[in-house]
Amino acid sequence: MPKIVIVEKEKCNPEGCGGFLCTRVSPSNRAGKEAFYKDEDGKVGVNEELVSDIDRIAVNKCPFQALKLINLPSELTEAPIHRYGKNGFALYRLPVPIMGKVVGLLGRNGIGKSTAVKILAGILQPNLGRERNGEENKAPYDELIERFKGSEAQGYFEKLRDGKIVLSYKPQQVEHIPKAFKGSVRELLGKANEKGDAEFKRVTEVLQLANILERDIGVISGGELQRVAIAATVLKKANVYFFDEPTSYLDIKQRISVAHFLRSLADEHTAVMVIDHDLIILDYMTELIHIMYGQEGGYGIVSQPKSTKAGINVYLEGYLREENVRFRDQKVQFSVHAHDARPSDEQLVTWPAIEKQLGNFTLTASEGRIDKHDVIGVLGENGIGKTSFVKTLARIEAETKAGALKVSYKPQYLEEADCFSAEKTVGEVLQHALAYEHQLIAPLALQPLFEKTLGQLSGGELQRVIIAAKLAEEADLYLLDEPSAYLDVEQRLLMSKITREMMAAKGKACLVVDHDILFIDYLSEKLIVFEGEPGKRGVARGPFSMSEGMNRFLKGLNITFRRDEESHRPRVNKEGSVKDREQKASGKLYYAS
Ligand code: SF4
Repeated sequence: MPKIVIVEKEKCNPEGCGGFLCTRVSPSNRAGKEAFYKDEDGKVGVNEELVSDIDRIAVNKCPFQALKLINLPSELTEAPIHRYGKNGFALYRLPVPIMGKVVGLLGRNGIGKSTAVKILAGILQPNLGRERNGEENKAPYDELIERFKGSEAQGYFEKLRDGKIVLSYKPQQVEHIPKAFKGSVRELLGKANEKGDAEFKRVTEVLQLANILERDIGVISGGELQRVAIAATVLKKANVYFFDEPTSYLDIKQRISVAHFLRSLADEHTAVMVIDHDLIILDYMTELIHIMYGQEGGYGIVSQPKSTKAGINVYLEGYLREENVRFRDQKVQFSVHAHDARPSDEQLVTWPAIEKQLGNFTLTASEGRIDKHDVIGVLGENGIGKTSFVKTLARIEAETKAGALKVSYKPQYLEEADCFSAEKTVGEVLQHALAYEHQLIAPLALQPLFEKTLGQLSGGELQRVIIAAKLAEEADLYLLDEPSAYLDVEQRLLMSKITREMMAAKGKACLVVDHDILFIDYLSEKLIVFEGEPGKRGVARGPFSMSEGMNRFLKGLNITFRRDEESHRPRVNKEGSVKDREQKASGKLYYAS
């Protein structure tokens, strides 16, 4: 079985392990081979071809988890497209943008999606996994063209070699934009615009930015920032557009509208590629997808393109039939029917009818009650008062109806969390969470992050750390505002399970505000639904049963979902289609019963 060994040099600490422990305990080394050796940089180096399975003992003995010995799928016979150094992350195969199509990339975080995009953009010249005299051996385009002969990628690299590919890229973490740019929305988009005034007007109108053009980039909301970033990407003259998580911070209505817009970009001269973890939107937006699988930080493999419908089902199944690779132990299943409401538990909090004036915004809530063990999804458009309602209960604002309840609050923007400090290490922030080793630290794979500061973390890592910090706090009510942002599909499902188990074990309750309908469906037992007019008035109703809550919410949006026959996952119906009309008539907008 082919194998690779990954050395995380920043973790390797030969003094701390008593002097190159792995070289001393490796059975291959003891047999006279130099599988593990002292490298020129003073850290360990590995000759992969000399390492055998029994050397796992050396890998496991490293006290700093600096080594990974990975068995690759036996079918993988070719060399990687790119490898970061001799014992670094390896990417196998590439996705290919196709003119006239929106192609999706679906896979875990840390599995090489950004590396693939950098190669496709011509920013990273791949080395085909070779190293010569310690130097990376970059492959010239002609060699790449030869390697991909007869495939879509051949034509793509020919165009890239001839300077005919211009890529425009929307990065993942849009909240970094205000740190890099000072000025108004108009100034930022004006700077990005290479397509003239008429296109500027059209794009800003389609993305509903016309009313905020004079506002400072530093004060607009996450959803507005996301749409500004999409507009800036689209206003560049390019023929390959790449969007890394274009749905974060957008509500479901905005997600569908952005999906329409991105689809409209693809024509015979333009290709669009999208990474997103909202499966409903990825399904709606793309025609083809590549699945990426492997091991986080170790290696990533790009599958052949599949039709989106089949590809998402394969992803949920966790098994790639053609490649004969199982990349998840269990398949992910969805229920066509709403979960049965759990018998009412002991009451945790009640609130009387609320009416609150917040500047020009009126927030009202009908009276409601939360029981111990409840995990309640909160659905509504952006700007409709969800966070204000949550903050009201959290006693963050002066007035509260939550009495003496102790509340743990994870805000939408992670840097606003009271435990956030860019200079603190993860270990410091999670001190109080160490008691939850089996419930939080191990399943969320937080231990390897302990030495890093919060400022060094990726979006997904920071989200996991802050959620763990908040769930570990002693409180009665837990409020998680958009916890799915930057988490991949697996992490979203895991987070659902952890949240439910934590509430059951603690006998507490949790409210979760999120726009990923699949995540909310998977996580929640009840729903609070917001209605009203964004920016003017918001009305909170519920908690309802899942079935009643989904129907109310989707009725307000005029959207219905059908079920995929195979996986039972929800899929958005085209407005006015037979299914859409039938479901509206029967009043079953989401669940079959
Ligand atoms: Fe020591 Fe681990 Fe580095 Fe080997 S990899 S030298 S065991 S710290």
